[in-house]
Amino acid sequence: GNERRFFLKDETETEALGQELARVVVASERGVTLFLDGDLGMGKTTMSRGLMRGLGHEGAVKSPTYTLVEPYEDLAMPAYHFDLYRLGDPEELEYMGIRDYFSADTVCLIEWPERGQGLLPDPDIEIHFEREGDGRSVVLRAGTEEGAALLNSLEL
Ligand code: ADP
Ligand code: MG
Repeated sequence: GNERRFFLKDETETEALGQELARVVVASERGVTLFLDGDLGMGKTTMSRGLMRGLGHEGAVKSPTYTLVEPYEDLAMPAYHFDLYRLGDPEELEYMGIRDYFSADTVCLIEWPERGQGLLPDPDIEIHFEREGDGRSVVLRAGTEEGAALLNSLEL
């Protein structure tokens, strides 16, 4: 289907969904662009951490707020974690050569994608986070056929 919705009761479940996304992406053997949107503290970085762990990263994963992008290059697939919260001028994205990051075999996760509007590719999957009670409600929407195939492959 084109959309999946999950209730994630705690941080562990948010990480687990990120890990499961990593699993289906690696199995697909293709790069992917994921947008993560929702207010501060909703779990975007937590899910990104699960994803990086799922790609084989063992260290910390922090939001690259000041550097805008953190590379994770020696994994199952090269991955780039963007956080555009502090992006001033979208032209900064041009200066950093943003287009070069989105290739057929890279995993790109983007927090606050709305701040880079017009300079980012269309996402394969857009992940929207909202608070629900003590947990989070998360909607995954496919934007491409590849994204839809990935959502269909999720075993959660
Ligand atoms: P963001 O990147 O969206 O600003 P973070 O991932 O940095 O958010 O922080 C999310 C906060 O919410 C962390 O304190 C984390 O422990 C917590 N959290 C993550 N997922 C859940 C969840 N499913 N339910 C409740 N709390 C969560
Ligand atoms: Mg964050």
